[in-house]
Amino acid sequence: MGGQARTRIVIMNTLHLTDSQQDIKTAAAVIRDGGLVAMPTETVYGLAANALDGAAVARIFKAKGRPMDNPLIVHIADISDIERLSLTADLPEKARLLAKAFWPGPLTIIMKKGAVIPDEVSAGLDTVAIRLPSHPAARALITESGCPLAAPSANTSGKPSPTTAQHVIDDMEGKIEAVIDGGACDVGVESTVITVATDTPRILRPGIVTREEIEAVIGAVEVDRAVLNKLENNEKAASPGMKYKHYAPRAKVILVRSADKRYTDFVNRCYRRDGNCAAMCYAEDVDRIVAPTVSLGSKNDLKQQAQALFDALRAVDTIEGVETVYAHCPTTQGVGMALYNRLIRAAAFQVIDLPDKTIIGLSGPTGAGKSEVAEILRNLGAGVVYADLAARKAVEEPEVKAALCAAFGNVLNADHSLNRSLVARIAFGSKKNLKLLNSITHPRIVEIMLEMAADCKEDIVIFDAPQLFEARADVFCDKIISVLSTREKRLDRLVRRDNLRREEVELRMSAQYDDRFFIDHSDRIIDNNGTVEELHACVKEVYGRLTDGTE
Ligand code: AMP
Ligand code: MG
Repeated sequence: MGGQARTRIVIMNTLHLTDSQQDIKTAAAVIRDGGLVAMPTETVYGLAANALDGAAVARIFKAKGRPMDNPLIVHIADISDIERLSLTADLPEKARLLAKAFWPGPLTIIMKKGAVIPDEVSAGLDTVAIRLPSHPAARALITESGCPLAAPSANTSGKPSPTTAQHVIDDMEGKIEAVIDGGACDVGVESTVITVATDTPRILRPGIVTREEIEAVIGAVEVDRAVLNKLENNEKAASPGMKYKHYAPRAKVILVRSADKRYTDFVNRCYRRDGNCAAMCYAEDVDRIVAPTVSLGSKNDLKQQAQALFDALRAVDTIEGVETVYAHCPTTQGVGMALYNRLIRAAAFQVIDLPDKTIIGLSGPTGAGKSEVAEILRNLGAGVVYADLAARKAVEEPEVKAALCAAFGNVLNADHSLNRSLVARIAFGSKKNLKLLNSITHPRIVEIMLEMAADCKEDIVIFDAPQLFEARADVFCDKIISVLSTREKRLDRLVRRDNLRREEVELRMSAQYDDRFFIDHSDRIIDNNGTVEELHACVKEVYGRLTDGTE
């Protein structure tokens, strides 16, 4: 019987079943036949096969494109199944306590595996993950099939887990025998995974059963480092699933950690500038955001956010033209830990930390007097972050140096410091080279500027940045001031200051934006064609207005 099923090579159509008794019987027959059935559970949809049939389980990996070293969870219908079927050689006391407290429900317990567990299920580990789900259709299918069901989430590997039958169909149509439609899942994120096979029990994946709730039952538990952090290259994953990119839509996800208003202002500036981004935000913020939004639900309702998360990640790709989605970073407390864990992986660990500061960008063409203005602002009490200083720090970082060498050949001195004049010569040699140089250095320079701003003791911080716009640092600025003066005055200053020939200065000036650009992209212009006293008075007036809330 089973052998016959496995000779089927192509599944023409996936059966769309309901959770009626008759359909559960049909699905159970598919399972007994070595086939694959997507089933609703209270967490997410699972892709189920007979857990004791290695060949059937192997097909799950194929349908999902799942790496073979990522083990599956075994789903049972009754706690007595563990000992009755010898799924483990001995059931630890802590597992018993956890099962009593949280089963049926969204908690998976890892323990030493019994001999009946095929290697395909445990991916070669000596442990097995077991869960007793509460969803009636899942339990009915397990009971009717007469065997435990190995089931990972029913998505294509790497994509967000499915929380509706439609999500499953989008990924799995034609690849699996059947899907049981049980409506939208209640919990929305996968089960909490805890191992009791270690001395101190350890949470390998957070879910809506929280660390706090677990500790109330069995005492202290650890949280695996991979739950909240990116693993180093040489670090071994306690839960193999944690090392893979996960939950990602096509659009690039970036987490933004910041106060509420700073988040919405930031997203609005990004949208006005780039036009190709969306916001994944809380319901309360939707009306304040000009970019397309995907709401996670109410700010203080973490369970609602968990329920909405995967649908929201899938929804991002249905908005036309979206290349980047800025997601407001959740807390890591309570259920927040589960949200953070999924989002940080969807974002491939890319996080922007917005400093809790008012940032004023200061730019303008070279020689216009930006540095003088920065000095006056510093004396008026603002903190100043110098882009040039950040740039010097950036190019001494090993990663940046490696990227520069990969792009331009060996550009290091004998002592491994960067040969800056060589890089300058290469970069100014062609537009293409300059663009390449900027694409390597600018993102890191801006990151360093944000770190420096966070470290300032002042609440108002000036970004002194000649290339504010080229580096895309303008999206981090609450206000932008540009300093302008006539071409003749700038030429004179630069020839004197930098000891350059007029032609060299003119060449550099021609590579920059013209006055019109600065006027169009700044909140205020400071005209520096008069006396030093006039400049002081003008800066004082502008700064006063920008900081007393009138502008
Ligand atoms: P999924 O079913 O797709 O939600 O993935 C199951 C998760 O449980 C993955 O992150 C696995 O790596 C993890 N897992 C399953 N079995 C084990 C085990 N024996 N040891 C450690 N992690 C496991
Ligand atoms: Mg999964």
